[in-house]
Amino acid sequence: MNYHILTLFPEMVLEGLNTSIIGRASAAGKISIEAVNIRDYTKEKHGHVDDAPYGGGAGMVMQAAPVCDAYEDLCRKLGKKPRVLYMTPQGRVFNQKIAEELAKEEDLVFLCGHYEGIDERALELIVTDFLSVGDYVLTGGELPAMVMIDCISRLVPGVLNNDASAEEESFHDNLLEYPQYTRPEEYRGMKVPEVLLSGHHKKIHEWRRQQSIRRTLERRPDLLEDANLDKKERKFLEELIREQEEEKTGEDLPKLP
Ligand code: SAM
Repeated sequence: MNYHILTLFPEMVLEGLNTSIIGRASAAGKISIEAVNIRDYTKEKHGHVDDAPYGGGAGMVMQAAPVCDAYEDLCRKLGKKPRVLYMTPQGRVFNQKIAEELAKEEDLVFLCGHYEGIDERALELIVTDFLSVGDYVLTGGELPAMVMIDCISRLVPGVLNNDASAEEESFHDNLLEYPQYTRPEEYRGMKVPEVLLSGHHKKIHEWRRQQSIRRTLERRPDLLEDANLDKKERKFLEELIREQEEEKTGEDLPKLP
């Protein structure tokens, strides 16, 4: 996977992504991260890349020319036109499914806006996807690009030491991850659940799936609609929902067949 980040602040993204697991994956050549400084493409005397908005209003707008020139130069060097993801609060909210889809690409361009954003004409000319990190406004697209690159990279083969770990994590199968424990067996009187010490892999797997279902119902019930559950797990979920309703109404409901 090759990431190309179009930004006015290359040092911010490179320093942030050069650490820990993503930094090691990059050093090992599993991914490559390149930052292109949009300012290098300005033809203005004082290196300006922004100007006041037509029609008036607060702030400055990034000009179309340096953005388009930076992208077109990149395409010439690569010999292809990769997908361009514009980081914007107006986009589709990024999630694990989008990350899985993007992880299949060979090259991805992340376009980071700043100030009041980018001249609409540049967006019309080069952007293929509009993506947001959530319904709030940040000062620039650099942090969103770093969030998405971190998440997508975990799905690139060889980036995590244990590839299976991405498959067991939250949002896989539309479920949250089960609770995790490590040494010691007892901490402040709280014991690790017995089943995890049993060495019985089938029972551990079953317990973890049930914990995932229970936790998803408690914390993110919206995910369950598309959760990938087998017949037994679906029955377990129905029983949990019944218990929840009993707690709410305070009465016993008839037992399910
Ligand atoms: N004026 C823009 C609007 O109201 O839609 C917001 C501009 S914001 C201050 C500056 C830049 O930060 C945007 O161009 C975008 O690249 C980035 N940004 C801000 N919030 C974001 C979010 N939630 N997701 C992704 N990018 C965001």
